[in-house]
Amino acid sequence: MALQLYNTLTRRKEEFAPIDPSNVRMYVCGPTVYDLAHVGNARPLIVFDVLFRLLREIYGEKHVTYVRNITDVDDKINARAAERGISIRKLTEETNAIFQADAKALGCLEPSAQPRATEHIPAMIAMVEKLLASGHAYRADGHVLFDVASMPDYGRLSRRSLDEMLAGARVEVAPYKKNPMDFVLWKPSAPDEPGWESPWGRGRPGWHLECSAMSWKYLGEVFDIHGGGIDLVFPHHENEIAQSRCAFCRDVMANYWLHNGFLQVEGEKMSKSLGNFVTIHELLHSDTFGGRSWPGEVLRLAILRTHYRQPIDFTVKALEEAEQTLDRWYDEIGDVTAADEIAPNVRDALNDDLNTPAALGELHRLAHPAIAGKAMAGLTRFGQKPVPEVLKASANALGLLLQSGSDYRAERLSVANVDEAKVNRLISSRLQARAAKNWALSDRIRDELDAMGVALKDNKDGTTSWDVKR
Ligand SMILES: [Zn+2]
Repeated sequence: MALQLYNTLTRRKEEFAPIDPSNVRMYVCGPTVYDLAHVGNARPLIVFDVLFRLLREIYGEKHVTYVRNITDVDDKINARAAERGISIRKLTEETNAIFQADAKALGCLEPSAQPRATEHIPAMIAMVEKLLASGHAYRADGHVLFDVASMPDYGRLSRRSLDEMLAGARVEVAPYKKNPMDFVLWKPSAPDEPGWESPWGRGRPGWHLECSAMSWKYLGEVFDIHGGGIDLVFPHHENEIAQSRCAFCRDVMANYWLHNGFLQVEGEKMSKSLGNFVTIHELLHSDTFGGRSWPGEVLRLAILRTHYRQPIDFTVKALEEAEQTLDRWYDEIGDVTAADEIAPNVRDALNDDLNTPAALGELHRLAHPAIAGKAMAGLTRFGQKPVPEVLKASANALGLLLQSGSDYRAERLSVANVDEAKVNRLISSRLQARAAKNWALSDRIRDELDAMGVALKDNKDGTTSWDVKR
């Protein structure tokens, strides 16, 4: 099956055909680095990482360019830096460093480029000049504004007419705007605000302009895929489209627009006032959520259990289940290396508009030797490859099971603070006690292990296996 993607622009699933298969180009809106990314932000990170991996699988690693910007000039940044009494630079550097660490912990590949807005001001100024020259922008009261009435199909992505937007909008209408929906391309900066010299005086760009300019610089006037959260469709993506299409006289900015659905937490909209606001950093490094910290891979699997366009309910239970699944899968793969090919059913599921729930269903079948065996004619082989190798390769396609089984186990033991050598010593003492029918001693050792957080399982053949308790 060829890759099919649901395109917000046409509201249809379409077969993906890149402009240039030797350079498939994707842009995804990145973070505004004033505060830590929350778990809702983890979703586009993970979803578009799966797509990046899939495109690399199909077109070759060297033939995919993935750009995710860093917004490091924004009024929220200025306000937060002032509030904390630190420089803008310190705030954005600090926040970005944590964002990069979070993305890595979630198993995300580094994008091909992560341009910063502050390093692309000349491209932004050049675009504003083009828009002014072509009559799509105007100057008013020190600002440069985009003139929405100059674009006949403004609103095509969100499928809203200007009248509908006006009716539903809560825009603050600045007196200098010709139309209330006109948006800022460039605005003046006070002496204590970040600013750059421009033909319209010292100022700074509007947020929408940053993405148009950086996607242009890295991917060209028209590129293949533009992604982001569903909340960005309007006004952000609509305005990116308006700027880029009007600046370059093009029918489209990107051919495929992909949007991931909302995330809620334990059945409720996440908000600071409800007290259920949780950052990726807190999930990974504190006991804020469910009374413990969670490995990034567990978060990743929990998020991929829901199709990316569906709303997702992020729960402790989902994390627990994801962790149990990973435990099982890592046991299954042990230390095998990935096969060179992923299972065809997993690939088909991903090609079907990134159907990760179906892909995970296939991984469950592969990880279950009896089922895998029945389905694949042979208990241990899948085609010409052993099942664990194919399971690992297939999970790797989703950015899962990237470690070896022993590294995973070692990490778990160290998180649980369990001394493996001591556990093995106690278990052999207990086996001796049992052989000598000293049940009191055997029970005492079991209790001691239990207190260490170790669960024992006595097997039929007289051996004992163990695991850390969750
Ligand atoms: Zn953007």
